[in-house]
Amino acid sequence: MKKKLFKNILLSMVVTLTVCMSLMILVLNKNFIKIEIGQLAKEATLASSGVENDGESYLESINDPDYRITWLDNAGNVLYDTQVNSATMENHSSREEFKKAMNEGEGSSIRYSSTMLQQNIYYAVKLNDNTILRIAETYDSVLFLTLRLLTPILWIYILAIAISGFLANYLSKRISKPINEIDLDHPLSKPSYEEIQPLLTRVDSQNKQIEKQIADLHQKKKEFNSVTDNISEGLILLNKETEVVSINNAARQLFQTENQNAILSSEEIKDLIEKAKQGKEAETILRKDEAIIRIIANPIYSHSVFTGISILAFDVTNTYEAERTRKEFTANVSHELKTPLQTIMGSAELLQNHLVKQDDIHSFYEKIHQESSRMLTLIDDIIRLSQLDESSQVEENILRINDSAKEAINSLKESAKKKNIQIHTNMNEAFIKANSRLIYEIIYNLIDNAIRYSNNDSSIEVSTYTDIHHAYLKVKDHGIGIPLEDQSRIFERFYRVDKSHSRATGGTGLGLSIVKHAVKLSHGTIALESELNKGSTFTVAFPKA
Ligand code: ADP
Repeated sequence: MKKKLFKNILLSMVVTLTVCMSLMILVLNKNFIKIEIGQLAKEATLASSGVENDGESYLESINDPDYRITWLDNAGNVLYDTQVNSATMENHSSREEFKKAMNEGEGSSIRYSSTMLQQNIYYAVKLNDNTILRIAETYDSVLFLTLRLLTPILWIYILAIAISGFLANYLSKRISKPINEIDLDHPLSKPSYEEIQPLLTRVDSQNKQIEKQIADLHQKKKEFNSVTDNISEGLILLNKETEVVSINNAARQLFQTENQNAILSSEEIKDLIEKAKQGKEAETILRKDEAIIRIIANPIYSHSVFTGISILAFDVTNTYEAERTRKEFTANVSHELKTPLQTIMGSAELLQNHLVKQDDIHSFYEKIHQESSRMLTLIDDIIRLSQLDESSQVEENILRINDSAKEAINSLKESAKKKNIQIHTNMNEAFIKANSRLIYEIIYNLIDNAIRYSNNDSSIEVSTYTDIHHAYLKVKDHGIGIPLEDQSRIFERFYRVDKSHSRATGGTGLGLSIVKHAVKLSHGTIALESELNKGSTFTVAFPKA
């Protein structure tokens, strides 16, 4: 701006200077001519009285090279000329000064030489005898004078331009200073030109408007982030150039990275983005370590124009796991039911076809009975397990675990007796708030297992006790023990360390699963300590009532 101002000021100064100088020269020249004409008029008047008195002899007596006097008759023919032979001169009737003098008694005119460097001033007067006396003088023209004075004029011009430049610089600085000093963030903080005040007021109000809009946007972004950061689904928003605009915490956690580019660079997600860019909804399943992630990409349109892509990510590990467990459980149940059914059917077929010897018939009936009751036990366990799966809340009462333990021991007295196993008890009063049936099932299953996985003539200890916060039940046997690698899996459905042993002892593979569920529903925890061939100890801790 300063540069432009400088240029314009300088240009206008130079133009003004040039015009002024030219006008001044012209005015001076005009004035000079006026004075000269006046001078010539006086001389013409003097000369005319000389000619009227002495005629041609007066003119012959004039010997001034500065002046040229021409005497003309009323037809414009030259009668006498002080510098040129009159006979050689042409008729002057067409000359302006002659015509004026003839008409008005006097007249003047100026004519320039062909080079324009000289000017002739003529003045003519009419004499009493109607002849015309013309006096002429030659001067240098304005152009000649200008050319002759070119060097000083140029110096004056250069000096004037230098002064103009200095002034233009000073003025442009002064004019532009208040404008340059405007703080566009706070345009009204300093006084400025009145003319631009409305503009500054407008800028100020727009600044305030923009500030408000930015604050609103920040607030909205904050709200959006707090909403998206609190949802469990991962959400990534991309703009139409597929750059990340927003990514929530859940997405970072699901993809286990803070680097959003790493998320988008995976081949599966690139493929989804490509499909979404073509306006299609796309879906895929991604495995990340243990986790299974379902990802859905959708194009986003605003007024039918593609503006970006939304990517939603869900952790479906549990759903997948539940589905896998359900399938495995169904397969296991079918298998477990098939084995006794096959035995029952085989035995029944042999009996029906009279292929069993009379002495063996009884044992066949017994086998059928045994397998049927095994099936029944299994079905009971499956039903019980699915009941526990579905119940999240059970009726609870204050009860003493030592009472439940006594009850369970009583029920299993016969089984223990068959193997000559001693059940030692150390019962301390321990109150808990729980469902009595669940507690009974826990204790029954643990003691039943202890008997089944103990050798004959061994012993079992069942104890109940408390500390400040908990009530405990402990079932300790001196049986076959559980290998370390199986200890974490024995609570799974149908998991058995030794399948044939379990079957032989009438096990279903569901006892400890029922125990695990029942303990969880009773707000307790179960711990196992076991050593192969030495025995196992199951300890259940319940919150004390
Ligand atoms: P099962 O009906 O086969 O006993 P459980 O679910 O009760 O099924 O137990 C799962 C497996 O855990 C058993 O098959 C057995 O291998 C092991 N087990 C459970 N309790 C004991 C124990 N007290 N001593 C040794 N092994 C045990």
